Amino acid sequence: MFIADAHCDALFKIAVMGRAPSECTVTPESLCGGGVGLQTFAMFSFLERPDPHADGLAMFAAYHALPLPRLDGKLPDAPPSELSAILSMEGGEILNGEISALDEFPGVRLIALTWNFENQIGTPAAKNSAEGLKPFGFELIREMDRRGIAVDVSHLNEAGFWDAIERAKIPPLASHSNCRWLCDVPRNLTKRQVQALIERRSFIGANFFSEFLAQGRPATIEDVANHIDAICELGGEDIVGFGSDFDGIRAWPEELASPLDFPKLMDVLARRGYTQAQLTGIAGMNYWRYLKEAEHA
Ligand SMILES: [Zn+2]
Repeated sequence: MFIADAHCDALFKIAVMGRAPSECTVTPESLCGGGVGLQTFAMFSFLERPDPHADGLAMFAAYHALPLPRLDGKLPDAPPSELSAILSMEGGEILNGEISALDEFPGVRLIALTWNFENQIGTPAAKNSAEGLKPFGFELIREMDRRGIAVDVSHLNEAGFWDAIERAKIPPLASHSNCRWLCDVPRNLTKRQVQALIERRSFIGANFFSEFLAQGRPATIEDVANHIDAICELGGEDIVGFGSDFDGIRAWPEELASPLDFPKLMDVLARRGYTQAQLTGIAGMNYWRYLKEAEHA
């Protein structure tokens, strides 16, 4: 079964924190061991860093040094048969307020407009604000649409989310966010937000961070399935998948500690009675379908 993951932060560990690639949770070995066919690698930085743009360039170089095939141009018709990588950005401050900076990151397919700090584009969910996207944010979305780059609404505040939903021609996705009605933290999506993403035939990647899965207790692998169930109950079986956030999270379900554990998660989902077609979608084909449609939008 084709397994895909919409978010990890290994590039930050390697290029910004200076760790050896082998020290990351996400490695070619762990991905292959877990049967992953497509991994999204995020270039992640934030405004409080000395130079987010320089971080971005360092991570872009680290991405190109990965010993994996990269799908940076037009996607093939079928999902890759060998483990492949695609590129995303998390924290639009990497662009330094300049549209032309997009030229420096060819191949990037998704951009999370903010991380947890306000930037030139918008305001994060982490800050309680009713302010929507800023003028540069609207300008950026127009240009991203033109270039076939999708808006990733994970980390964005609600006002910014609705601005993106309204303006972006390519359906915005949430690469690594869960359900707020199961775990009430600002980083998770409300029912209305999930419904809007379903209506746009978008994508939501379930996040494995313990604190976004369950409150007041350690999360288990069953909690990940609970969030996936909840999205499916709203009609989202064709848009839900995985956004592990490995190498960016400091706590995870004990049974889901690395990409090696994806088969365990698939077993948990299979025991919940999903059909083979639903499991195939959740495992990776929903994300693949989204990426293909985003390319054609
Ligand atoms: Zn994140």
